[in-house]
Amino acid sequence: MGAGMTDAPAPTPLKLFNSLTRQLEEFQPVHPGEARVYSCGPTVYNYPHIGNMRAYVFADTLGRTLSFKGYKLTHVINITDVGHLTDDADAGEDKMEKMAAEKAQSIWDIARHYTEAYWADIKALNIRQPAHWSIATDYVPQMIEFAKAIADKHCYELDGGLYFDTSTVTDYGALARAKTDEGEGRIEEVEGKRHAADFAIWRKTPAGETRQMEWDSPWGRGAPGWHLECSVMSEALLGFPFDIHTGGIDHREIHHPNEIAQNQAHSCSDASGARIWMHNNFLIERSGKMSKSAGEFLRLQLLIDKGYHPLAYRLMCLQAHYRSELEFSWEGLGAALTRLKRMVMGVEKLRAQALGVLPEQEDVHSVVVEQFAGSLCNDLNTARAIGHLEASLNATEFPATRYATVIEMDSVLGLNLATLTRADLRIRPKAATITEAEIEAALARRKEARAAKDFATSDKLRDELTAAGVEVMDGDPLGWDWRLDTN
Ligand code: AMP
Ligand code: ZN
Repeated sequence: MGAGMTDAPAPTPLKLFNSLTRQLEEFQPVHPGEARVYSCGPTVYNYPHIGNMRAYVFADTLGRTLSFKGYKLTHVINITDVGHLTDDADAGEDKMEKMAAEKAQSIWDIARHYTEAYWADIKALNIRQPAHWSIATDYVPQMIEFAKAIADKHCYELDGGLYFDTSTVTDYGALARAKTDEGEGRIEEVEGKRHAADFAIWRKTPAGETRQMEWDSPWGRGAPGWHLECSVMSEALLGFPFDIHTGGIDHREIHHPNEIAQNQAHSCSDASGARIWMHNNFLIERSGKMSKSAGEFLRLQLLIDKGYHPLAYRLMCLQAHYRSELEFSWEGLGAALTRLKRMVMGVEKLRAQALGVLPEQEDVHSVVVEQFAGSLCNDLNTARAIGHLEASLNATEFPATRYATVIEMDSVLGLNLATLTRADLRIRPKAATITEAEIEAALARRKEARAAKDFATSDKLRDELTAAGVEVMDGDPLGWDWRLDTN
């Protein structure tokens, strides 16, 4: 062991910000050596926007950090295919039923189509597969059992179905820091509700109507409320208490307080079901909240269509802290792509230098990796972690050690640096018509013309390429020569 080992900092404990206490807390697993994590998944009535995908880049970074720290990870993400109303606070129509009616399609087809689209984005962003994708409609019998168990003590029946009485649990809404059980600002559209914040556990199909998705229950034919599914599936797959529950910051206000209330009721205790609740902040647009209906619908596929590699978006997410708002801009995405290109080229260079060289300095390796780990352990400071990775790329000594270090760091950041190539990053914008072969041929002719000092021909070729949407980048420090740009 080298003398340097004694200088290595002790492994840093993992600290995470718990929304329940609004404090950083050291991660102490419920089951020694394990980490059990549940993430609220998408409602599959439409394509996810890139803001939704930020929530899963965050959950994936958390999961990869837990694995890196040596915990055996069990991650669950659910797919909401029933129950989520157009308003989180228990009003409006079921999002799935509404979309199915608009498209005159079956809910099952809609759910399948958008679930597959979501999974394609998960793959493109190099988000690891969870141990379970739990589908809400697969758990309806368990949801009915859960509701039966809490109905007598915590629920009441109205014409619309079975409602949860939020005054029956301790400190309802503590997660949201709601002051009273009046559920500030909540819309109350249901007659007979005892408190504005009370919510549906089971929604009875109104007499004379049929829903595409409905099941028999002790409270009539109908469908479960949205909050019920996450309580039921997290308990079924992870057991109460489990370690960490994640979701976007909007869930801190209604969905998660309601899950906690149900969990308290079901466990006959004040325990919230999960020990740590974590929330990612929003991706926003300059004009305000990101939405699927207003303006340009920012789907991952739109980014790809414009020539941006999806991992440039992953890097853009990691450059910000997950608890900060992140404003999306095409310039910001372009800068992230350039940064990713630099990393890929740095890794290619390092790989060539390291070829056939044995790792040189184990102690240097462990110090750098521990610094990197230290940043992640500080409530997932990915921005600093990226800096450590880049510092290793830019150093000059010990290429084999540095290569191994960089690849190890990337196993947490998930930028695929071990396999991503320059060619992968050169994505053809959908609107482009000129082919790569045509571009290369024109550039070769231009090179000949310049060698022969025929600048008129060289300029003409450049103008022709510009007209076709190709930016010629003479002397680009990254050596990219050209870029297709159809924005
Ligand atoms: P939904 O499909 O609406 O249930 O949302 C899926 C996930 O995305 C949830 O965890 C939301 O909290 C989260 N989310 C929604 N909008 C955004 C946004 N603009 N930025 C980040 N996360 C979001
Ligand atoms: Zn949920």
